Amino acid sequence: MFAGVINDRGVVVVSHGDLRTTYEPVSAQVRVGSTVGAGQVVGTLELGHACGNASCLHWGLKRGEEYLDPLAGVTDPTLLLLPESAVAAAEAAASARVGAGSGTFTRPVPGPITSPYGMRFHPIFKEWRLHAGVDFRAGCGTAIRAAAAGRVISVSFDSSGGHRLVLGHPGGVTTHYLHAQGYQVREGTSVASGDVVGTVGSTGWSTGCHLHFTVKVNGESVNPATYL
Ligand SMILES: [Zn+2]
Repeated sequence: MFAGVINDRGVVVVSHGDLRTTYEPVSAQVRVGSTVGAGQVVGTLELGHACGNASCLHWGLKRGEEYLDPLAGVTDPTLLLLPESAVAAAEAAASARVGAGSGTFTRPVPGPITSPYGMRFHPIFKEWRLHAGVDFRAGCGTAIRAAAAGRVISVSFDSSGGHRLVLGHPGGVTTHYLHAQGYQVREGTSVASGDVVGTVGSTGWSTGCHLHFTVKVNGESVNPATYL
């Protein structure tokens, strides 16, 4: 049994011989190493999966690193399938939280959040992965603004993030801006909150112009919406 927090989300893993079942986002009510019986409560659902303001369980079955169909072993599954609108509802909930967060950060672009922080079905890789930031809808060429005062740590290009900018802020916080057409700041430059640092593009693994915005604290990604 594993119980812990991975990227802000509680996860419980129960081993059954060579199989493991996974439960997230869940606050564990069991301890690592304890034995559980079928039907025993292992935890309570947290908010955070793609269910908008509702809670829903991401339930997985693995053998080694191989993902299996969890329903294959369930004789009488009673399922609540997510409505097609679930992802749209999660996006709307994430957008609504912008402005409801601490307000520490300036919005880097004016558009709505179209893909929230959390597990999502990747549009290019066609698999579930952690989306370690938020995507803002923004037209090509829209000005990107520094979310907070800081210093330019790096301006770089790579095949996944495209043109990528990293700003450093006090307290071990960094902000990351991906997929831009380009940036007009250089490494080492100081920026004020709201300064224009670049323009929105669709470079790297991107399906259209948007800004991917990540916030890290001491190198670990956190949900940017809580700062906006
Ligand atoms: Zn993104």
